[in-house]
Amino acid sequence: MSGYDLIVVGAGIVGAACADCAAAEGLKVAVVESGVVGGGVTAAGMGHLVAVDGLPAELALARFSLGLWEALKDLPGAEFSRCGTLWVAGGEHDHAGIPDKLARLHAAGARAEAVDAARLRELEPSLAPGLAGGVLVPDEAVVYAPAVARRLLERTCARGATLLHARAVALGDHEVTLDDGGVLAGAVLVATGTALPELLPELPLRLRKGHLVITQRYPGMVHHQLVHMHYTDSAHGETDSVAFNVQPRPTGQLLIGSSREYGSNDTAMSLPMLRRMLQCAFEFLPGLRQLNALRAWAGLRPASADGLPYIGRVAGRRGIWVAAGHEGLGVTTAPGTARLLVDQLLGRPSALDPKPYDPVRVAA
Ligand SMILES: Cc1cc2nc3c(=O)[nH]c(=O)nc-3n(C[C@H](O)[C@H](O)[C@H](O)COP(=O)(O)OP(=O)(O)OC[C@H]3O[C@@H](n4cnc5c(N)ncnc54)[C@H](O)[C@@H]3O)c2cc1C
Repeated sequence: MSGYDLIVVGAGIVGAACADCAAAEGLKVAVVESGVVGGGVTAAGMGHLVAVDGLPAELALARFSLGLWEALKDLPGAEFSRCGTLWVAGGEHDHAGIPDKLARLHAAGARAEAVDAARLRELEPSLAPGLAGGVLVPDEAVVYAPAVARRLLERTCARGATLLHARAVALGDHEVTLDDGGVLAGAVLVATGTALPELLPELPLRLRKGHLVITQRYPGMVHHQLVHMHYTDSAHGETDSVAFNVQPRPTGQLLIGSSREYGSNDTAMSLPMLRRMLQCAFEFLPGLRQLNALRAWAGLRPASADGLPYIGRVAGRRGIWVAAGHEGLGVTTAPGTARLLVDQLLGRPSALDPKPYDPVRVAA
């Protein structure tokens, strides 16, 4: 048995960020990954770094994390592009939500400005005519998350951490057993994304399928990450839903989302859902109909019981920690998650109150 300060199980963007942060603090770190580093949900997502403002604690973690992303944006392969987010208001109902959205973003320290119909057309001439306006958040960005996870892991290992290609099969007091029979001793962090219930069944987790489509290269057609004003209604709703969400990749490709559905626990594509998602995108960006799509796929978002991730010590277990349940915002919030987790591990205060994310809330 060998001893570590922290054993991170799972090397998606969340586990990789936690391992990187712990190693940077001088902790002795091991990482256990059963598949490909960054190859889980992290490879299935969009990579939009965005302050979603549906829940106050979600917004706070996103804003905290966006600040920390500034130190990661130059990692090789990150494909960081500060395209900004343009929240698009379709009609009067959407438009009426602009002042409240601005107020929430400003209160959280974000730069954001209201955009009228004419300015919207100026910013994004390919949008459909007749849209009401929106909100521009100029500092937000997109990244290629699987590459970031890999780079963070490389950096962690360069600082002396050990990467083990194995599957964690059981947790004990301050230890984890691997499928090869090995046992690692130390504080254990479970960051296994959608596989969370296998090791920590006491933490509720639901899988939420989302589809994406990527096109061939059409540079200049879209300039900002375009998201419908009421995207968060879809993100926090209980029913199957779609929302307009289009991202310009630095390659000139367009990434088209988004859909959400519970109750489907594999990554098989649902053609009716894909059609619904694309119809929604065509209404806002009619020119998309003429483009060639290269690939479409579905991924599963790991959704916690209340829309906030689980970050912290697991109640009722000794030496077991968790960082999971980030639903559709785990790329954005990975650096903030890592900071909160490592601060708690080291017994020191964080710049952000960790309480809303404490997994003890679901036990209570
Ligand atoms: C369609 C879609 C769009 C999205 N768009 C965005 C977006 O624009 N912005 C954003 O911020 N987020 C987005 N997300 C969400 C984001 O992708 C996830 O929240 C995030 O990737 C979760 O990362 P993770 O590290 O928790 O999980 P994963 O990336 O799944 O990592 C978990 C890792 O643990 C490993 N593992 C599992 N069990 C074990 C075990 N027992 N032993 C060892 N290893 C194990 C797995 O192999 C995997 O590599 C999107 C998600 C989807 C599906």
